[in-house]
Amino acid sequence: MKEFDIAIIGGGPAGYVAAVRASQLKMSVAIIEKRATLGGTCLNVGCIPSKALLDSSEHYENAHKRFAEHGIQAAEIKMDVAQMMKRKDKIVAEVCAGVDFLMKKNKVERFLGLGSLVSATEVKISNAADKSEQTIKAKKIIIATGSVPIEIPPVPVDGKAIITSDHAIALTKVPKHMVVIGAGVIGLELGSVWRRLGAKVTVVEALPRLFGTADRQMSNLAQRIFEQQGIEFLFEHKVEKAEPKGKGAVVTVKNSAGEPKAIEADVVLCAIGRKPYLEGLGLDKVGVKLTERGRIDVDFHNWQTSVPGVYAIGDCINGPMLAHKAMEEGVAVVEVIAGQAGHVNYDVIPGVVYTHPEVAWVGLGEEELKEKGIEYNVGRSFFKPNGRAKAMMESDGQLKILADKKTDRILGAYCVGAQAAQLIAELTLAMEFGASSEDVARTCHAHPTLSEIVKDAAESAGGWAIHQ
Ligand code: NAD
Repeated sequence: MKEFDIAIIGGGPAGYVAAVRASQLKMSVAIIEKRATLGGTCLNVGCIPSKALLDSSEHYENAHKRFAEHGIQAAEIKMDVAQMMKRKDKIVAEVCAGVDFLMKKNKVERFLGLGSLVSATEVKISNAADKSEQTIKAKKIIIATGSVPIEIPPVPVDGKAIITSDHAIALTKVPKHMVVIGAGVIGLELGSVWRRLGAKVTVVEALPRLFGTADRQMSNLAQRIFEQQGIEFLFEHKVEKAEPKGKGAVVTVKNSAGEPKAIEADVVLCAIGRKPYLEGLGLDKVGVKLTERGRIDVDFHNWQTSVPGVYAIGDCINGPMLAHKAMEEGVAVVEVIAGQAGHVNYDVIPGVVYTHPEVAWVGLGEEELKEKGIEYNVGRSFFKPNGRAKAMMESDGQLKILADKKTDRILGAYCVGAQAAQLIAELTLAMEFGASSEDVARTCHAHPTLSEIVKDAAESAGGWAIHQ
């Protein structure tokens, strides 16, 4: 039986990052992955393919709506969906090959098949393709099996008319009407892709607003912009059922007064969240406990489960289901196992919705600060007066910094606007270093850049914004 210092079940962002870090720390590592390619949901069917499609569809929309103002005459603009998908598939193949390269470079031994726990030190690997089975031994086991889309019986996914994100990144033609269930990150990103390509998009959301607990003022602003773009929202509407009808489907929704309404669509995208993927793992066999909500229960100081020597990270444990959070955990858990001080600062994890404009945030929003009784100053800046934003035709948007009233320490930042994800990165770093808004305001920012919008907001938090 082969023996390793660490066996990692799952080759997504949590698992492959843990594997590299473990190898760097001189441990022998096995990584077990059931997919033929490494990279997990993020690289294969999530972040990367959706961003490829978001970029393609944004170019298409710009060609229609913005080129003429730039003086670019494009006589006939046509969408070749097959070519768009081909490009996406090529990008996915390249990034997955990149992870393969990392495994080889770091001498991580890769096993193809479904991993399941035999004991706290043994993993069985079952390969469905060649029906082979083998068991390996490891001093420590890390579970990083990720998540899958939530499906509910009243909305039976058939992969054709009723689909999940896995199918929405591989449609072969633009639907006339797409109904999206859930105004979350997936609904807005993939809804945006198909709207830009010509679909009518209706988003049905049970809650009264976008992005759950995120800062209300910024989520309202994002909603207004998405509505202007043509996305129709039905807030406070619950989906009762979806049924195939002809070549499409019909969705029955109910508003808060209980009044039903039937909506016909060619495609219904079910994007109501994701759940941990724990199938066949054998957790109960070895006594790994779950939380009330069905994720693996871990001690967040060392990511150890209820079974000593068995750890879990990424989407299968509590916290936001984000690749970058999973990667941080991948590094930290291995450092803890190696006797180092691995740590993840859960208060400073950025969130991004890659629509256009992007929506990005880090830290606490106004409602959360009020709830905690923390007094704060608001620094606000707008994209409109920024010269670079004007040159880019990106004047719609704003950025908000929330700083502690007494200490001026930055507690949260929100941005709706072009390249919001990049702008929030600066404030994420500032928060990690415990910076005040004045620290950011007195840092020289290159001109003309969108980053000056960050400086403007920081100046505004101190009450002296020059350009606002
Ligand atoms: P989500 O939790 O972000 O949003 C799901 C939405 O569906 C919620 O607003 C919920 O209120 C609504 N909903 C649930 N049941 C409903 C019903 N019956 N009728 C109407 N509305 C209903 O989930 P998601 O968008 O599916 O994303 C899943 C996970 O993947 C999230 O954790 C997300 O963070 C992650 N993800 C992140 C990114 C990114 O970082 N850009 C991109 C894609 C996915």
